Amino acid sequence: MLTIESINTYYGNIRALKNISIDIAQGEIVALIGANGAGKTTTLKSISGITPPRTGRIRFMGKEIQNAAPEKIVAMGLCHVPEGRHIFPQLSVMENLEMGAFLRRDKAEIKKDLDYIMSLFPILAQRRKQAGGTLSGGEQQMLAISRALMGRPKLLLLDEPSLGLAPLIIRQIFEIIEQINRSGTTIFLIEQNANLALKSSHRGYVMENGEITLTDTADKLLSNEDVKKAYLGI
Ligand code: ATP
Repeated sequence: MLTIESINTYYGNIRALKNISIDIAQGEIVALIGANGAGKTTTLKSISGITPPRTGRIRFMGKEIQNAAPEKIVAMGLCHVPEGRHIFPQLSVMENLEMGAFLRRDKAEIKKDLDYIMSLFPILAQRRKQAGGTLSGGEQQMLAISRALMGRPKLLLLDEPSLGLAPLIIRQIFEIIEQINRSGTTIFLIEQNANLALKSSHRGYVMENGEITLTDTADKLLSNEDVKKAYLGI
């Protein structure tokens, strides 16, 4: 579904990504783990067109997207939920969700997706009229994921969905991520909480200083001695 072939991404003269290659198949949850500053966010931004790579190729559903504008990439079914959530704080929960469907005209299907989201996150149904900015951190994360789902993405990119949240909420969010995946959405997520991310994923990539240093099934990474020492706190 997504093939990243040897991309290099720069901030000015700083080479943040060095020959990164990643493959994601339809139906998978794939985790990208690594320390602060390893280049995880830059990888997602390179895919979604926010910080396009200087060299290398990215193919999504058979089409090259490394030079495509972010809005075109979204329209192809690839949606990025950024770190820090970025919901619209003044708009209500419902209005935030409607913004996620702004490219769509299929009213009946939009209504169906709203019902699906409200069943995934009943708390959002309760808070539908409340301003997004007044929600708790966990609820804002749920809203950010939900808003992305309103665009019916084929591939969802999630940047640190656990950031700053309490353990109980994190567990809930990851259960829902798995549920979203089971209903057909492919997921690529980045996390500093490697243990949690790998437990929910099929496969993983480890990133250090802008390079992929290891890739394997999630189970193998969880039992890998180097990964345990560096990222799992074991
Ligand atoms: P974090 O978990 O802290 O977000 P990360 O693994 O996502 O870390 P990136 O944010 O992708 O890492 O950063 C990779 C490298 O690029 C870092 O060295 C960072 O300082 C640098 N970098 C990131 N954004 C910019 C920017 N806008 N301008 C210049 N350098 C940047």
